[in-house]
Amino acid sequence: VNAHETALLEDLNPPQAEAVLHGDGPLLVLSGAGSGKTRVITRRVAHLVKVRRVFPWRILAVTFTNKAAREMRERLTQLLGAQANDLVVSTFHSAASMILRREAEAVGLTRSFVIYDDGDQLSLVKRAMRDAGVEPVMQPREILHRIDQEKNAARLPEDMRVEQDDIRGQIVKRVYAGYQKLLRAANAVDFGDLLLLLVKLFRDRPDVLERYRTRFTHVLVDEFQDTNPVQYAFLRQLAPPPSANLVVVGDDDQSIYRWRGADVDNILQFPMQYPGAKVVKLEQNYRSDQNILTAAHEVISKNPRRMAKKLWSERPKGENLELLLHRDERAEAQEVARRILALQREGFIKFSSMAVFYRTNAQSRVLEEALRLARVPYQLVSGRSFYDRAEVRDASAYLRLMANPRSDADLLRVLNVPARGIGDTTEERLTDFANEQGLSLFEALGERHRIPSLNATAQKRLGGFHQLLQSLHAFSLTAKDAAGAVDQMLKETKLVETLVAEGSDEALTRAENLKELLGAAQEFDLKRASDMVASAQAAEEREEEAPEGVDSAPLTADIPPLQAFLEQISLVGEADAEVSEGRVALMTLHAAKGLEFDAVFLTGLEEGVFPHSRALKSDEPDGGEEMAEERRLCYVGFTRARKRLFVSLAQCRSLFGELKYNPPSRFLADVPQALFGFKENDLPPPPRAAAMPQRRRNWEDDEMGPRVDRSYSQASSDMDGVGGDVRGMRVRHEQFGSGRIVAAEGSGPNAKVTVEFGGSVGLKRVIARFLIPG
Ligand code: ATP
Ligand code: MG
Repeated sequence: VNAHETALLEDLNPPQAEAVLHGDGPLLVLSGAGSGKTRVITRRVAHLVKVRRVFPWRILAVTFTNKAAREMRERLTQLLGAQANDLVVSTFHSAASMILRREAEAVGLTRSFVIYDDGDQLSLVKRAMRDAGVEPVMQPREILHRIDQEKNAARLPEDMRVEQDDIRGQIVKRVYAGYQKLLRAANAVDFGDLLLLLVKLFRDRPDVLERYRTRFTHVLVDEFQDTNPVQYAFLRQLAPPPSANLVVVGDDDQSIYRWRGADVDNILQFPMQYPGAKVVKLEQNYRSDQNILTAAHEVISKNPRRMAKKLWSERPKGENLELLLHRDERAEAQEVARRILALQREGFIKFSSMAVFYRTNAQSRVLEEALRLARVPYQLVSGRSFYDRAEVRDASAYLRLMANPRSDADLLRVLNVPARGIGDTTEERLTDFANEQGLSLFEALGERHRIPSLNATAQKRLGGFHQLLQSLHAFSLTAKDAAGAVDQMLKETKLVETLVAEGSDEALTRAENLKELLGAAQEFDLKRASDMVASAQAAEEREEEAPEGVDSAPLTADIPPLQAFLEQISLVGEADAEVSEGRVALMTLHAAKGLEFDAVFLTGLEEGVFPHSRALKSDEPDGGEEMAEERRLCYVGFTRARKRLFVSLAQCRSLFGELKYNPPSRFLADVPQALFGFKENDLPPPPRAAAMPQRRRNWEDDEMGPRVDRSYSQASSDMDGVGGDVRGMRVRHEQFGSGRIVAAEGSGPNAKVTVEFGGSVGLKRVIARFLIPG
């Protein structure tokens, strides 16, 4: 034991070791970026198993992304060997999903429930709106957004308190109730349900809760600052105050998911929720050189209302930060590519230790083009892109129907894929009939002979489709692995065949992607098999038996392979892509959380880009909560860098189909100029001088906060549909005149917005780039 213990504590500083050695009861580790919080979690888990002899299956460690979970598991496998296999290391969503699947019957689902994504959700909301007869009143996107928020706040429709005269609130509540019914009828859940249903189950069924409480005696959470109320409710149920072994680590300065319902108060109030909790502060940063740390500190310290935290480093001062100023976004991208090549040529920094960050996804296109041209190997870290391809979604829809034929959203998606001559009219008659009879579409297909006014051809085609689904479902019941099921599905549906027959380059690429999906299933099966072997091995290695009557089985033990595979697909997140060796990583700032790189390029430091235009609208002198969040995002970006930090901006930029001249970001003005190598009394050399906001030394200005002239930024806008937060913005359209945005969808040049133009024009859906602000 002693040897183990020494090895595990060897490279930890005293407060880190204190957190690892902390005995029982709640523990909060609150500290700045790069101070070893994640390392503490990993070591503590290893210590619990190796030294304190806690069974690995008793430990639940929650991280923010699947990628982070994977990395933590790898680390733990190095420390613990086969035993790491029995640990539950996962995201909130996947932990909830695994538990919910075991308890499905208790919440009105079956084990084969499917998880609906954003697109499925939207079509369901539309249907619920039609059923409730509220279609013209509100936009589906807006309602969906509000439903998601209710779920993040742990509220079902019946928990919503809405004033009688709050018409919109009433509508949301009604649609929400109908939407939940549709989900249950389809044997489906959405992301929000995963935690919400579990929290409700634990509340209503103390016996079920007790089983999991007895099992998970140790719960640890990374990035705790970004938990939302329903996630926190889940934690409090599983590891209740005041004395449960709940370990949370985080940094309030890195709370960047408020827009998804995260509540930074969860971390700030933790000592009140868990009175007597031990609090450990880590103050030494091991990641970044001094100059980088100083810059990050200067930016974040402008935020009001922070917990005071110290952060120091023994690392050298390091290189200066570099400021790259360009004519436009293309020049910026080219320069980034050049600098990356130069760093690599110098020989100290590998491509895989470099990253390029940007504020919104739409900025990546130009960067990608420039990197391609310069032959810089790169990878976009956007985990969903593969699974979001149309053909992969079609195939997944079939797989989900295979497991769960009641999934109406999936059935509608593939009713006529590949084309089988089922037209809109037939589809409408089928859905009307299903609605009237209260049947799922699959059941309605079985009763198709009762559908009025369907001709013989339509009957026959529906019959063929019904047979296909029945046959696939029957196969799934006995499928021994995921790959077998995918293979069978591809054969019976002829998805690949049809594409190959089409013969165009594009169709062939799509066919390749479907084979790639088969490859993913094979990989999944292999992993599952080796996990099982490791798990058996781990059980043998341990002398002690699991105590009688305690549930120690792996959470996914009885889940059929196809469903487990589907679950993995559904839960792939934005930040989950594996960056392969030898590539520069491109990602949004939000996806960069928790990561580190030798060199970081932070692009688009312009008012209206970063900080995002959304944050410029506040009337509050310090920019309000939205600006504070942008600032935290900047802090997260800076502190990802170990040795080199490049910040870049363009004098003009076309984004979302609009040309904008934005002033430099206020965050640049917060970085002491000396860190860029500009001497205090020197004027910085042109052309940089013109673009750098002058740093004024008047104390009043410091009180006033932003020093950047904001008159320009008011004129800029973006029509970014992501998050739908352009709503309320005034815009003009050449033909329709001026109006106000009520909803937005998509992003990039094809983003569409719905605008209320007033008068006889009324509501119109238009392409965002045809609008100008004002
Ligand atoms: P973030 O706030 O960004 O999530 P963090 O607090 O989780 O950061 P880690 O990622 O755990 O920090 O650690 C940052 C870096 O410092 C890692 O490379 C880690 O290996 C290293 N590190 C942490 N503690 C020590 C230590 N005691 N000695 C040497 N290196 C350390
Ligand atoms: Mg971390």
